[in-house]
Amino acid sequence: MNTQTPLPRNFHVMAKPIGPICNLDCTYCYYLEKEKLFPKGGNFKMRPEVLETFIRQYIDSQNTTEATFAWQGGEPTLLGVDYFQRIIELQRKHSGGRKINNTLQTNGILLDDEWCLFFKEHDFLIGLSIDGPRRLHDIYRVDKGQKPTFDRVMAGMRLLKKHKVEFNTLTVVSASNVKHPLEVYNFLREMGSGFIQFIPLVERLPTEASAAPGTGATSLACYKMERSIRGLRGLPHLHIRGVDQARRRKSLCPNVRCFPRYLVGPRPGTLPFSRGLRGRLGLGAQR
Ligand code: SF4
Repeated sequence: MNTQTPLPRNFHVMAKPIGPICNLDCTYCYYLEKEKLFPKGGNFKMRPEVLETFIRQYIDSQNTTEATFAWQGGEPTLLGVDYFQRIIELQRKHSGGRKINNTLQTNGILLDDEWCLFFKEHDFLIGLSIDGPRRLHDIYRVDKGQKPTFDRVMAGMRLLKKHKVEFNTLTVVSASNVKHPLEVYNFLREMGSGFIQFIPLVERLPTEASAAPGTGATSLACYKMERSIRGLRGLPHLHIRGVDQARRRKSLCPNVRCFPRYLVGPRPGTLPFSRGLRGRLGLGAQR
């Protein structure tokens, strides 16, 4: 008897073809530690056969004329341009006449002319992670040597603009920038972000060791988030991911378990918080 819940005909999958591997060490990152779920010394790249099966099945599963892929990490640009060239080939092979869209979330550090030419040629929509102006961004978004990253992210943004690559920004709302919502918003608008997304910093459950910096109890962070978001909601070009769903659930908790979405990782059973779909290509429902 098949006890698995059937997949909806239209659904969104966030693909993580390099799992939790990243070139940064953001203080609030909850995902880097998932490296421990992989075998020691393992290769984190999604294997070619898994990649092709995912692309084929994902396209087939959409009952519209388009399929939109969302590539994330860790840091997906660590895979190199050639890996994504292969992705484009596979999408063409399995498109079945559908229009294929690609989005990619990056910390911006590795962006160069080659990447930007590739993104432009294949019409990628890029999400650039930036937490506001230098003084706010550099508090938590540091590299493996704990060095600030603002200048490198801005260099990446300039390259995206130079090559006319469409990009949005994604800002993690933390205990620091939550106190300066308009400063963050105005900075991002001035930098040319066409679509601004805010997501709340993921906090640990009280029973888990906390690496999240300075946000205090989850309830306090929820309160701060809600207050700042209420002040910003009337402004244009603003999207607050997760918050509308949370409101419908009568909760504004930023804990990762509150937000439903699907993930696909390098191999089965290596995704955080996954259940239900685990075992199919590494698909996991994040709840
Ligand atoms: S860039 Fe993203 S994945 Fe990398 S350390 Fe920062 S928050 Fe984590």
